[in-house]
Amino acid sequence: MPEASNTERTSIIKRTSTVTCPECEEATEVEMPVESCQFFWECPACETVLRPEEGDCCVFCSFGTVPCPPVQQQGGGCC
Ligand SMILES: [Zn+2]
Repeated sequence: MPEASNTERTSIIKRTSTVTCPECEEATEVEMPVESCQFFWECPACETVLRPEEGDCCVFCSFGTVPCPPVQQQGGGCC
């Protein structure tokens, strides 16, 4: 008799995004807030405060390797 295995989730929400600063090109791994968007983010290397590009909801969608959790869940247009 085969062991019962838990059903794996098909969509795993990633909680960290690597944000690349457009000013100094420093890549920083950032933990994202789960239920809200982060509009401003300060680069720890050059202290530039990033804002999302037009049409994007947060800095992770504009500069990160991974879009913010609400966008991952809903497929875009979180706020
Ligand atoms: Zn920077």
